[in-house]
Amino acid sequence: MTQNTEHGPYFGEFGGQFVAETLMPAIKELEDAYRDITPNVSFRKKYHKYLTHLVGRPTPLYHAARLTDDLGGAQVYLKREDLCHLGAHKVNNTIGQVLLAKMMGKTRIIAETGAGQHGVATAAACAALGLECVVYMGAVDITRQKLNVYRMKLFGSEVVPVESGSRTLKDAINEALRDYAATSSTTHYVIGSVVGPHPYPTIVRDFQSVIGTETREQVIAETGRLPTHIVACVGGGSNAIGMFSAFIDDPVELIGVEAGGKGITSGMHGASITAGEPGVLHGQRSYFLQDSDGQILEAHSISAGLDYPGVGPEHAHLHAIGRVQYVSVTDDEALAGFKKLSRLEGIIPALESAHAIAYLEEIVPSLSSDDIIVVCLSGRGDKDVSMIVELEEGT
Ligand SMILES: *Cc1c(COP(=O)(O)O)cnc(C)c1O
Repeated sequence: MTQNTEHGPYFGEFGGQFVAETLMPAIKELEDAYRDITPNVSFRKKYHKYLTHLVGRPTPLYHAARLTDDLGGAQVYLKREDLCHLGAHKVNNTIGQVLLAKMMGKTRIIAETGAGQHGVATAAACAALGLECVVYMGAVDITRQKLNVYRMKLFGSEVVPVESGSRTLKDAINEALRDYAATSSTTHYVIGSVVGPHPYPTIVRDFQSVIGTETREQVIAETGRLPTHIVACVGGGSNAIGMFSAFIDDPVELIGVEAGGKGITSGMHGASITAGEPGVLHGQRSYFLQDSDGQILEAHSISAGLDYPGVGPEHAHLHAIGRVQYVSVTDDEALAGFKKLSRLEGIIPALESAHAIAYLEEIVPSLSSDDIIVVCLSGRGDKDVSMIVELEEGT
C-alpha cells in the first residue's frame, strides 16, 4: 500500500519471525493472503467504503491557532484521529484485518487486550462484518477496565479471563497465541499495533498509513508545502508509523514521543527506545525494557495505551539509522498537555496523544512562524477524564 517504506521480514537488524514451529503455517498463510488479497480492487473498495462510512475518514487536519499563538513558534496542526469512530486510530487497523480475514474465508477472530481499547476496536469490526470474536484479557485487567469489557460484550464478543501468571496483558498474549496455533484454519488473530512476528508489523503499518497519506495531501492543499516537523506518540508505534510512512523520503523531521512515566531515572516508564536494549520477545527482535539478565521489565505510564515494554521493529530500525528522533515525556508533562489542549482548543486529547502535545513545549518555541509542525492526535481523552478526576481527588 505504501511504496516508500521497507517490507519485512526484517527492518535492518530488527523484526523477523521468532515463533514456535506450530505457528509457522498460520503465519505463512497470512503472509501469502496479505500479499495476494489486499492489493485487489475488490478488497480496496470494501476497505475504503468502511473507512469512509463507518470510521468517518478522511479525518480533518486542524490548524490549532490558539495553541500556535501560545507556544510562539511554528504553525501547529492536529491530525484529528480523535474523530475516528470509537475515538482513536485503532479501528483503521481492526477493520482492515477483519476484512482481510473474512476474504481469507475465516469465520472467527481472536484478539488480546490490556486496557481494552484494542479489544473494543476489534469487537466493533467483528460486529460490523459479522464474524465471531473472542478477546483474551488478563483477569486483573478485566476488573480494572469494566466499561471496556461491557462494550466488547455489547458488540457481541466473548471476553475470556486469563488466570495464569500475573493475569495481565502478557499472559493474555500467550493465551491468544495458543488458541491461534490450534485454530488457525478457521481463525485470524488480530494484533493491535506494529508489533509481533512478520508480517504483522507491515500489515498494521499499511492499514494505518492512511493517516500519513491523508495528512500529506491535506497539508499541501492548505499551505502549499510539506510540513517541517511531524510529532506522534509511540506505544507499540502504530499511529506514529502510520503518520511517518508518508514522509519517510521527504526532508521532514520525524519525532516519536515515548512514555517517560515518572522519569527515565526512576525506572518507572515505557520508553523502550530511549532506555531499553535490543532483544527478542513476542515473535520479533526489537527494543525492550529489560534488566541486565535480559528479563523483561514492567512498563509504567499514566496512559494505558503506552504501557507496553517494547516497540515495533520498524521503529527500532528507524532509530538505528537515525531517520526518526525518539524522545520521552513524563506523566506530569503529559497531564499538563492534556489540560492545555483542552483549555486552548476545546479538544480533550487521549493521555497517549497528550504526550505528543506536551513535547511541543520543547521544540516549538525555538522554531520560526514559517515552520509547520503536525501532531498526530491519535485519540480523544473522554476515556481518561474519570481517572484524572480520581487522581486529583486523591481517591
Ligand atoms: C493504543 C493507543 C496508542 C498507542 O498505540 P500505538 O500503536 O503506539 O499507536 C496511542 N494513542 C491512542 C489514543 C491509543 O488508543
